[in-house]
Amino acid sequence: MSNPIAIPKVGFVSLGCPKATVDSEHILTRLRAEGYLISGSYQDSDLVIVNTCGFIDSAVEESLDAIGEALAENGKVIVTGCLGAKGDVVRQAHPRVLAVTGPHATDEVMAVVHQHLPKPHDPYSDLVPAQGIRLTPKHYAYVKISEGCNHRCTFCIIPSLRGDLVSRPVGEVMQEAQNLVNAGVKELLVISQDTSAYGVDVKYRTGFWGGRPLRTRMTELAAALGELGVWVRLHYVYPYPHVDEVIPLMAQGIILPYLDIPFQHANQRILKLMKRPGSSDNVLARIKQWREICPELTLRSTFIVGFPGETEEEFGELLDFLKEAQLDRVGAFAYSPVEGAAANELPDHVPPEVQQERLARLMLLQEEISAERLKRKVGKTLTVLVDEVDEEGAIARSSADAPEIDGLVYIENGQQLNVGDFVEVKITDSDEHDLWAEIA
Ligand code: SF4
Repeated sequence: MSNPIAIPKVGFVSLGCPKATVDSEHILTRLRAEGYLISGSYQDSDLVIVNTCGFIDSAVEESLDAIGEALAENGKVIVTGCLGAKGDVVRQAHPRVLAVTGPHATDEVMAVVHQHLPKPHDPYSDLVPAQGIRLTPKHYAYVKISEGCNHRCTFCIIPSLRGDLVSRPVGEVMQEAQNLVNAGVKELLVISQDTSAYGVDVKYRTGFWGGRPLRTRMTELAAALGELGVWVRLHYVYPYPHVDEVIPLMAQGIILPYLDIPFQHANQRILKLMKRPGSSDNVLARIKQWREICPELTLRSTFIVGFPGETEEEFGELLDFLKEAQLDRVGAFAYSPVEGAAANELPDHVPPEVQQERLARLMLLQEEISAERLKRKVGKTLTVLVDEVDEEGAIARSSADAPEIDGLVYIENGQQLNVGDFVEVKITDSDEHDLWAEIA
């Protein structure tokens, strides 16, 4: 062991989506709370934890490579996360790993750590900040409100990896959010597999926060988070009817006017094959109504192109929907058969070249829509949150931009700003993704 007072050191590799990042943060927080040190190198670590992703084939490969590298460089490796739920895959590729756990398994991971690397005598719990250890920059943080999912979308294996929905107690979520705000966080990003289902598993039980009752439910949680005085952004909101309830909170400025709501397709037959809700007429009417209530609303959605059996006509319906819906941000993916997904059994898989051609057409259309919508912001004054500052200016985001997935606002005279500042800027230019601005 290389450190002179022999404090055990753990290396950590965190792969995967924001939900996996939150799992990593929980494990890192526990490690630090118990007095372990977190090491930045394989050689300096007494053992290494790899938090894996198993969502698509390329993520599986990346995770297996990371495990292989940790084994070669260090030798003592614990595997956790989504790929860990497919224990056999990991053990077959890397029989030497110490243990394999699934996602959201802090207790199990800690038990294996204790077994192979005993806890130090003098816990450094005082050194752990109340907000825990986070992997995101200090001014924004992900808050995971639940784990698992009750839906069975046919293209997705998350429920088989992570199980049915389990909502975190609302008081616990609020306490974590409050700790983050106290520690200087300016933006809370609410995440889960299915944010609008929050509380379904506990029948929307009433919990407590700040001495008053608070229901375990998305609308009530959003309103309570909105009282903390920072930006609150909702992600992965499944299009249930009660989503309509959060739009007035957005219109009143209680939470950000931003809705990340995956529609996946517009054609009724394909949606049914996907086991997704909603007809496009209904969705279009709802979008129209949402925008009437909250004209500032930014809508982000994701779509799957070339789902098994998708005809040219059905794809055309999706394009027509996009033209009509005028969404602000769109992510689109060609359907890819994830091992274990029910949709793989469907007939008439669309050839990859047709999928790619459709994907390109969809993205081209959406770029035009996005460019047009961003152009309308030129000349307006917006509040933005600064993410980075260098000699060329500052890079920030507006309410319309979630970190890492949406656009940016480049502030050309922002050299004097600080990361985490809220600042009013005047928009001077735009392209299909980003905006340019000057301090107002
Ligand atoms: S709602 Fe999301 S996580 Fe749940 S099954 Fe569907 S795609 Fe998967």
